[in-house]
Amino acid sequence: MAAHTVYKEPAPLLDRENPLESMMSRFNIAAEILGLDDETYNVLKAPDKQVIVNLPVTMDDGKLRVFEGYRVIHNTILGPSKGGIRYDKHVHLDEVKALAAWMTWKCAVVDIPYGGAKGGIICDPTTMSAGELERLTRAYTLALKDVFGPDRDIPAPDMGTGPREMAWLMDEFSKTSGATSPAVVTGKPLVMGGSLGRTEATGRGVMVSTLAALAKLGLNPTEVSAAVQGFGNVGSWAAKLLFDKGLKIKAVSDISGAYWNDNGINIDEAIAYKNAHNGRLEGFGGAEPLNADDLLTSNVDVLVPAAVEDVITEHNAGDIKAKLIVEGANGPTSASADPIINEKGILVVPDILANSGGVTVSYFEWVQNRQGFKWTEEMVTERADRIMSDAFEKVYKTSQKYKIPMRIAAYVVSIDKVAQTYKFRGGF
Ligand code: NAD
Repeated sequence: MAAHTVYKEPAPLLDRENPLESMMSRFNIAAEILGLDDETYNVLKAPDKQVIVNLPVTMDDGKLRVFEGYRVIHNTILGPSKGGIRYDKHVHLDEVKALAAWMTWKCAVVDIPYGGAKGGIICDPTTMSAGELERLTRAYTLALKDVFGPDRDIPAPDMGTGPREMAWLMDEFSKTSGATSPAVVTGKPLVMGGSLGRTEATGRGVMVSTLAALAKLGLNPTEVSAAVQGFGNVGSWAAKLLFDKGLKIKAVSDISGAYWNDNGINIDEAIAYKNAHNGRLEGFGGAEPLNADDLLTSNVDVLVPAAVEDVITEHNAGDIKAKLIVEGANGPTSASADPIINEKGILVVPDILANSGGVTVSYFEWVQNRQGFKWTEEMVTERADRIMSDAFEKVYKTSQKYKIPMRIAAYVVSIDKVAQTYKFRGGF
């Protein structure tokens, strides 16, 4: 009999500000402004459900390896929960809890009938074969088959996952439930029920929010420069669509480093380079190398963090020169940076608003799957752009009404909707 080695990745400790604490500190300020009652506060401050699963996977070398995975359902008062699945070495339960809560607020801010959830597996997808990733994704789906469902909890891609993983998830769920269920997951490949416009949806929402914010600041997009951190799905699409609108993108970055061109980077060339070089910008000739940390404090008008959490902190916020920050990533600004940014008068379009174009088109994908009908790309983008613009105006007006930053205003809009729904539904 072949000997199997069974071991488990140790959960890495957080070496940065805890995103759950960052989320809760903003939630607390918004709850106070709204005068949220203690009962609703106590319901909303913790997730409805947290599931931890152990996932044994046979690796290509024949050895059995056990991965730890999570699915956190934050809240389902507005509808079935929705949220991506992250594959990363540094996935942490507190991070998944924060991301799940952000999904509740995000769906509420764009007024779509979903609650919030998030999932993650501690793994390094960059070192795993397609076969290993498929077995891991199927094991995760099987372990969570009673949690997932088109009317219960609908996953989607996040960092480290994409259409391929969503296809495996849909297939495994369909086999175990005995019925083809495209609506159990969004972000699927186009040929199997994915939506036109989904790939670029988050970046497009970032672009729509940026233009709306520039209009409030009285700035002309063609006279504005920008820096984009992260050149994956969100960052590259945001950069491309802003570039197409005439903004001068002076800096972009990815995990390989940052790149600067004072005359503006040709984003079409940068994307073509990345696609030809294993998804990385390393060696890109259309710009000079820049110290990665310096991108955030570089001399540009608009800063789009679109990579990871907690990159803008109390340590660098004071040096930011941008007039506008549009958060493509989830949680790129730690709570400790908020007062410094507000003091400097920088306008921030917060994550739960700026990157909600992704979940909006995920919602459209789910609607199409349930209708059994495919929408045209024009229908998708026109409806998504309208939702983004309406949400932006609502949050902006709330920020003016209470004289609060847009970040807190977005929480106020979301928590108010959720709290009102609790009042109507009752049932405790
Ligand atoms: P992705 O995996 O496609 O891309 C991530 C990018 O960030 C890559 O270019 C990577 O090289 C880069 N990166 C990683 N660490 C970095 C660092 N320290 N400095 C600079 N660059 C770094 O992921 P994505 O889907 O684009 O997601 C990015 C962020 O946007 C995440 O916070 C995610 O939760 C959030 N988000 C994504 C979507 C979506 O639809 N994909 C929707 C809403 C929010």
